[in-house]
Amino acid sequence: MTIQDLAKQVIRRVAAIAGPHHWPSRHPRLWVLMYHRILPADDPRAAAEEPGMMVTPATFRRHLYWLKPKFELISLSDWVGRAQRGKTLPLRACAITFDDGWRDNFEFALPILRETGTPATIFAVSHMIGTEKVFWPNRVARILHTPRNLEGCPSTIWLRKLMPAPSNRALTPGEISKVIAACKTLMDRELSERLDQIEKELGLESWPERPLMNWDELYAMVESGLVEIGSHTCHHTRLNDATSDQDIEREVLESQRLLQERLGRSVRLFCYPNGDVSLKSLDWVQQYYDAAVTTSCGINTSATDIHQLMRISIHEDISYYQQIFFSRLSSWI
Ligand SMILES: [Zn+2]
Repeated sequence: MTIQDLAKQVIRRVAAIAGPHHWPSRHPRLWVLMYHRILPADDPRAAAEEPGMMVTPATFRRHLYWLKPKFELISLSDWVGRAQRGKTLPLRACAITFDDGWRDNFEFALPILRETGTPATIFAVSHMIGTEKVFWPNRVARILHTPRNLEGCPSTIWLRKLMPAPSNRALTPGEISKVIAACKTLMDRELSERLDQIEKELGLESWPERPLMNWDELYAMVESGLVEIGSHTCHHTRLNDATSDQDIEREVLESQRLLQERLGRSVRLFCYPNGDVSLKSLDWVQQYYDAAVTTSCGINTSATDIHQLMRISIHEDISYYQQIFFSRLSSWI
């Protein structure tokens, strides 16, 4: 074991037994946990997914049972509503959120939310609901996960430049995550067009099965009485300075309009794709939503900007046993 590993272990242990979730506080604090996919380890869909995106159903169930004695588990809108009306807020609250609207949330998370009576927020990508479309990182991961002759595919030149190894071997999950991170210098639309071309050349145009929830599944989540829906834009477009004003406006407003129309409920919560927040996007979100979440890591207080709430990202490898889960909640590691 290296000195760094040892130091990490010590911080983790201290964070778990003496982190902020143990501190007495006279001021309300809100932990917002960020989940993506809930998938059994042996599910074929887990094979080509980034490790940072998944938690197994068994681990997710354990999280909720570990949280219950320590936190008031509330919905994000409950916290926001109480804060807006000047009502008393819980001193140690925790809200569960899921990004993207994955179909597995309906299959595996909903039964556990029901079993434990836990409220949650799903941030859905309005114009991808029920379609065969999938996000560009998943498309990149699928191309790289299986060994294939990318040299024989001329449109992969740019992608091969980002790869750490000869392209005729399958990349490890860690290597795939690095390639995906490197792709982020390109705009979403450009990435999508380049991937369209590669998939055409490789004959990978169709996705094995619908990856995201359809409207009926989303509606069933809402009808459970436990789940509320927020907007995660129309197309999962990153709302940064490189995105045009027109695109930002459309992604923020049109997603809200469609979700409200199809679900028959008002949609007052927003989630910035990739955590990218520009002044322009913040401006639109402040005008049309009660609150919004980012991917910045931290614990919120009543003084935190309600349109830039921080979250703690949760995935299997940093949460599968109690000590590392609670060390994660410290937001220190
Ligand atoms: Zn997302």
